[in-house]
Order: sequence, then structure tokens, then C-alpha cells
Amino acid sequence: MYIIFLGAPGAGKGTQAALLAQKLGAVHISTGDLFRRKAKEGGELGVLLKSYMDKGLLVPDEVTIKMLTQEIKGARGSKGVIFDGFPRNLAQAKALDEALEKQGKAIDRVINIKVADKELIRRLSGRWICRLCQAPYHLVTSPPKRAGVCDRCGGELYQRDDDAPDTVKKRLEVYLKEAQTLIDYYKGQGKLVEVEGEGEPEIVGERIISALKVRVKGWG
Ligand code: AMP
Repeated sequence: MYIIFLGAPGAGKGTQAALLAQKLGAVHISTGDLFRRKAKEGGELGVLLKSYMDKGLLVPDEVTIKMLTQEIKGARGSKGVIFDGFPRNLAQAKALDEALEKQGKAIDRVINIKVADKELIRRLSGRWICRLCQAPYHLVTSPPKRAGVCDRCGGELYQRDDDAPDTVKKRLEVYLKEAQTLIDYYKGQGKLVEVEGEGEPEIVGERIISALKVRVKGWG
């Protein structure tokens, strides 16, 4: 299964992609997580990535596509891949199709998680994430048991630099500019599945599974 998650920042792509990857035994590729890891390592590439991320802008396609293609090669032989945060525009979507075609593979489904703007801003402004396992928390709706500490692995929680209010606004603008083109592209291929993203993550996950009609052992 090769599945793409589309949706605005804060729609829950990361959470749902991780859940689905676990259920299906597939590899989860998140370009945002990949870029944050590389940015932390520093160096020329790290500084470049951070300069775009901090402004809420997209990293240039040539850099993004090159890095993503390497990740896909690394996932060769796996049960499938769940793409989270990629593609973000048409050029990336076409590059992904080409990279998969070289492996005799293709995207099976594209899940568009829909959440109202007001709710997106509320979610992003209270979001804290575990540095170690990337588990997300919300200061109001799903706080950790101990402040600043991950319930799952004990890792330190942090707030992403790009979750600052001005950057959130910019990220939403950037997303909206390209989103409809991508939605139309996958709709035209008959691969698009729309899912309502408001509500508890488990409920959204169930909606996704039933929309995909994937029979996963042990699920419901
Ligand atoms: P995310 O974690 O998906 O919200 O991504 C965080 C930031 O990483 C974005 O605001 C972009 O700066 C960068 N980024 C992530 N994925 C992509 C992509 N597919 N193309 C370009 N930039 C990206």
C-alpha cells in the first residue's frame, strides 16, 4: 500500500500517518520530521532547511525531491509507505509518481483530512511534541500527565519554532495556495478519499480505515 496524507498543518496528518503505518506494517515517511532531524544536525543543508521552515515557507523542490527519493529507495522491500507532508505541490506529486514507477509501484490512495481553519489554529497554538518519539500533546485538550514529559517514552516535550502564531498563519496560506491543485490531481486519478478530521484521533483513525476499506487484523 502506497498512501499519501494531505491536509493543512494541524489537520492530524502526522498522528494518523503514524497510526496507519503501524496498523499496516508500512514505513512512515514525514518530510517535516526528516527536515527537522537534518536541521538539528546543522551543516550547510541543516541551516538551509531551517531557514525555510522558520519562515513557514516550502523548502525548494530540488532539495525536497532529492531527499524524498532517497527515503523511497530506503523503503524498498517494505510492505508499503505512508507519505506525510509530501507532496506539497504538483511538481512534487509528479516526481513522486516517477520515483515509484521506477520501482514498478504507484500511489494507491490519497487521504485528504479536512479540518476548519479556526480549529487548525487552536490545535497548532497549543501543540507540544516529544523530542524522542514525536508523540503530539495539546496543552488544553490532551496534556501530558507530567508537564513537559512524554507519557509514552519519558522524552522531553517541546514546542515547534514554526508553531508560533505568525508562522502558523504563513504555513496555512502556503498550504491553501497549492492544496486545490493537488486535490484535483488525485481526484482526476480516482485516488482521493476525503475524511472529516475533527474529533478524537482514534475516531478519525476509524473513519480513515473504513474509508480505505482496509481489513487490518485486530481492528474493530
Ligand atoms: P510539516 O511538519 O509537514 O508541517 O512541515 C514543516 C515544514 O517543513 C514546512 O513548513 C516546510 O518548511 C517544510 N516541508 C515539509 N514538507 C515539505 C515539502 N514536501 N516540500 C517543501 N517543504 C516541506
